Amino acid sequence: MTRTPKQPLPPEQIEQVFQILAREMPGRGPGAMGPKGQPNPFRTCISCMLSAQSRDANTALATKALFRLARTPKTMLKLTDQQIATAIKPCGLYNVKAKNVRKFCRALLDDFDGVVPNNRPQLMQLPGIGRKCADIVLQFAFGIDTIAVDTHVHRVCNRTGIAIGNNAEKTAEALNEVAPQWTFAEGHFWLIQFGKRVCLSRSPQCDICPINEFCLKRAEDRRSKPA
Ligand code: SF4
Repeated sequence: MTRTPKQPLPPEQIEQVFQILAREMPGRGPGAMGPKGQPNPFRTCISCMLSAQSRDANTALATKALFRLARTPKTMLKLTDQQIATAIKPCGLYNVKAKNVRKFCRALLDDFDGVVPNNRPQLMQLPGIGRKCADIVLQFAFGIDTIAVDTHVHRVCNRTGIAIGNNAEKTAEALNEVAPQWTFAEGHFWLIQFGKRVCLSRSPQCDICPINEFCLKRAEDRRSKPA
């Protein structure tokens, strides 16, 4: 039997879901300055690259150690792969990430005179910068509102039906189409906090979830339960 592809929630329900999330979840706090507090575009890019598959605390240790050694693309390229890898060890995958940091700095200098571009297509031309990092840089370093999709946002969007995509990038594209404009400034924060507090990866708290009446996963789970 072929399964019908999952359909996103209708626009009026997406609006209602965001209204509830806006009321129930914390938004952008006054201290929120980007990944691990790095408002500078160059350092935001590097922090985001280092954060892949790493816990926040470990990423913070790695970025702190690396930025103690170098804070610009030029000075970063004076470091060897080994020096970078040693500094960023706490965030894991350090050999690969060290190479990526150098590739990113090289391309930034060669293609953009060392200045981080302030638009998504150009950001995504840089090695190591995918859609999520590009959106994080836009929002946190340039103040351009957009909902960056990380693993929590991707999971929440697909479970609820706010936006459907088989990977974070596809979800981000879909979300960009359907999210009301008023959610762009803080939607990222509401969805992440909701994913960390309620719609947990392994044990979603569906019974106490404030948006459970809209949720596609909840409806599916109920349908598939034996009577
Ligand atoms: S009902 Fe459950 S699966 Fe759906 S959004 Fe809420 S916690 Fe997540």
